[in-house]
Amino acid sequence: MYWEKEIETLERKGLEKFQVEWLMKSLVQAVNSPFYGRDPEIQRIVKSGLNSVEQVHELPFTTKEQLRNDFPWGFLSVDKKDVVRLHSSSGTTGNPTVVYHNRHDLGSWANLMARSLYAAGIRDTDVFQNICGYGLFTGGLGFQYGVERLGCLSIPAGAGNSLRQIKLMRDYGTTAAHAIPSYLGRLYEVFKEEGLDPHKDTNLHTLVIGAEPHTEEHRQRIEEMFGVKAYNSFGLSEMNGPGVAFECLEQNGLHIWEDAFLVEIINPITLLPVQEGEIGELVMTTLDRQAMPLIRYRTRDLTRFLPGTCKCGRTHRRLDRIAGRSDDMFIIKGCNVFPMQVEGVLLKLPEVGADYRIILATIEDQDEMIIEVEVKKEWFRGDLAFLDKLQRHITRLIRDEVLVRPLIKLVEPGSIPKSEGKAVRVFDQRIK
Ligand code: ADP
Ligand code: ZN
Repeated sequence: MYWEKEIETLERKGLEKFQVEWLMKSLVQAVNSPFYGRDPEIQRIVKSGLNSVEQVHELPFTTKEQLRNDFPWGFLSVDKKDVVRLHSSSGTTGNPTVVYHNRHDLGSWANLMARSLYAAGIRDTDVFQNICGYGLFTGGLGFQYGVERLGCLSIPAGAGNSLRQIKLMRDYGTTAAHAIPSYLGRLYEVFKEEGLDPHKDTNLHTLVIGAEPHTEEHRQRIEEMFGVKAYNSFGLSEMNGPGVAFECLEQNGLHIWEDAFLVEIINPITLLPVQEGEIGELVMTTLDRQAMPLIRYRTRDLTRFLPGTCKCGRTHRRLDRIAGRSDDMFIIKGCNVFPMQVEGVLLKLPEVGADYRIILATIEDQDEMIIEVEVKKEWFRGDLAFLDKLQRHITRLIRDEVLVRPLIKLVEPGSIPKSEGKAVRVFDQRIK
């Protein structure tokens, strides 16, 4: 049932006692870095000690901007010679953010990953295909080491090349796989083009999906297409990568591993903790990382704690699925819109295909939200009156959800350009 029963089911008091101890260790480690070494609040607590986890509120936040400004070595808390790996973001919008790991860190990460996969029912008897980019992206090596730690037969398939993915699945009898949700719709299309049905022609029983925002509707589609259970996996490279929070067999929110991370949810404007159960920005402190501890890191991801306990017996709190990043939100005609609100509406409709995108444009001095929606082949060939009705129906549903009337463009399946890696849903072409 558990990978590490004692720690996964530790009662709250014990967990908090552990957290105080490990938070202190993290702070002591962090002040070795140039960045935290010059922070008076952290210095003060390192000297005076900690009595409760509540004292985390006395510490300063760390932001992505600060990671970028102190690039590349400012957060390094160990001797460079002890660092054995780095992962970094693409850096298209400025300095990349980089995270360093020593041997200890890689070991703890692999363990958290194995624990997460185990919680989702994956065992050493499984054949696990990791369908995502290896290299600087954490989804590749992050899963790889976790799957090996767990003891599955791992297939480091990498991203893309759907025909090869299908062949690997069939040749080796893949039973479980990890992929980003936006890729799985495409993979399914290729199964169909090849005259294959994942239900009958593979041994898959579990998919692990994550790395990008997706809705419950999207998960259900994936489960139906592949005839599997699909579990939500959350992580970010600043907190290692995957293996931060994971769904158990109950599929009712993501257990966030509180022995490795101290978790807060704050109001991004007041920076104070939100009320229990309210949505806010996820803030995390590493408790067990040596090469690069991060204190109160503002993830920009929006979520909330789910109330109650989980039937599985794990005591680590559960996060609701991530609603998006605070910077995903856009404002159109005075309304705040999250792409996942649009996805939630679209993917409930059986006629809607695998992809959609939102284009914000200025048309005759007016800002408009254009939504291109792929329609499944069997319906796209349908008569014009049907498509017209569908278009009006979607327009109404979206308007009711986001309070802005969109311009809906129904397009052929496969016609929306694919991005490399994570899906890009919003294109802002407005004249500012
Ligand atoms: P990048 O910033 O280049 O996307 P990461 O790979 O570190 O780099 O991405 C982490 C981010 O991906 C998270 O902060 C979150 O916004 C998103 N993410 C990861 N997993 C999920 C998930 N299961 N659901 C929603 N969003 C996710
Ligand atoms: Zn659970």
